[in-house]
Amino acid sequence: MKNFIYEVQPSRVLFGTRMLQQIKEECTLLNFTKVLVISTPGHIELAQKVTNLIGDNAFVHAKAVQHVPNNSVEKAIEVLKQLNIDGLVAIGGGSPIGLAKALALHTSLPIIAIPTTYAGSEMTPIWGITENGVKTTGNNTIVKPKTVIYDPELTVTLPADVTVTSGMNAIAHCIEALYAENANPIISTLAEDGIRKLVRSLPIILDNPADLNARADAQYGCWLASTALASVGMALHHKLCHTLGGTFNLPHAATHTVILPHVVTYNQKFAPDAMKAIASAWNTAEENLGGVIFDFILSLQAPISLKKIGMYQQDLAKATELTTKNPYYNPRPIKKEAIAELLNNAYEGKRPSN
Ligand code: NAD
Repeated sequence: MKNFIYEVQPSRVLFGTRMLQQIKEECTLLNFTKVLVISTPGHIELAQKVTNLIGDNAFVHAKAVQHVPNNSVEKAIEVLKQLNIDGLVAIGGGSPIGLAKALALHTSLPIIAIPTTYAGSEMTPIWGITENGVKTTGNNTIVKPKTVIYDPELTVTLPADVTVTSGMNAIAHCIEALYAENANPIISTLAEDGIRKLVRSLPIILDNPADLNARADAQYGCWLASTALASVGMALHHKLCHTLGGTFNLPHAATHTVILPHVVTYNQKFAPDAMKAIASAWNTAEENLGGVIFDFILSLQAPISLKKIGMYQQDLAKATELTTKNPYYNPRPIKKEAIAELLNNAYEGKRPSN
C-alpha cells in the first residue's frame, strides 16, 4: 500500500426518509435564533414548508440562481443584516447551497444544507461566486455545511433527465477520486461504493421516479461522491467541465454526463487500479470502460454529445486551448492534440474506444 494522508472533515449527517422533520432540532443544536431559508424561486413552496417547520424565527429567501452571481450575494447580505440572521438553511441543488456558502464566506454564518439534487456541493468546503461572467472559486472550511440532511422524499420530484445527469455528475466525482493524485484507500472505498449505488439505482429511478428505495440508494451514493469531491483533488474531467460550463455556458450536469466516457477512455491505460475499481462497481469487464459508460448514458436517454447540449463547433479550439493552458495533475499527461480529439469526439457523440 502507498503512503497517504487522510484528513477527516467534520460534519453531521442525517440520512433517511422524513429526516426533514428534524430541522427545528438541528437549528437548535447549532444555536440558530434567526434563520434564513434559502432556495431557488422554483422551490419557494418547499422553502416555506421548511420555514414553517422551524417556526416564527425563520424567513424565506427564494432568490438563489445558477452560478451564484455576486449581486445576488450582496442583496442577500443586506437581508441578513436587516433580519439579524445567525443561521442559514439551504434547500435545493448546487445553486441555493452555493449562495449559502457565499454568504458564509462573507459572514462566517453556519449552514445546514438539505440537498435535493445529486450535484454534491453539500459536503465540500468549495465556494464559487460569478462576477462579470467570470466564476471565481475557492476552498475555505468556513463554508462547509455543519449539518447535512439527506431526505430521499425530497428527490422524488426531480425530473428523470435531471436525475440521470445529476447522478452522472456524482459518478464523475467518484471516478476522478479513484485516480486522484492524493487518493487514499478510505476515500477510494467510498468512491467505489458510490459508483455501485448510483449505477444500480439510476435505471430503477428512470422506470419509477417515486421508488423511494432507489432514491435512497442514489442519494447515499451521492453523499459518498460529495465526500470524495471534498476530500481529494479532481483531474481532467472536472477541468474540462469547468471550462465548458464557465466559458461556453453549457448546462452543468449534462456537460459532466457527455464528457465522462471520453475522459475515462483517455485515462484508461494510465490508472489501472482506478479502472479495476470502476469495473468492479459497474459489474463489467475492464476493457473499454468509456464505451460501457457511454452505453449506460444512452440507455438512460441522457445526452451523449456536446452538439446536442449547446456547444458550437467553432468553440472547440478555444475549449482545447483553455483546458491545456495551465498544467495540472491527470494520470495521463495533458496533450493538446489528444484533448482536441477528445473534445471533437464528445462534440459528435462518438462512442469512445481505447
Ligand atoms: P441547481 O441547484 O441549479 O438545480 C438544477 C434545477 O433542478 C433547478 O431548476 C432546481 O430548481 C431544480 N431542482 C432541484 N431540486 C429539485 C427537486 N427535488 N425536484 C424538482 N426540481 C428540482 O443545480 P445543480 O445541478 O444541483 O447544481 C449545479 C451547481 O452546483 C453548479 O453551479 C455547480 O458549479 C455547483 N456545484 C458546486 C459544488 C461545490 O462543491 N461547490 C459541487 C457540485 C456542484
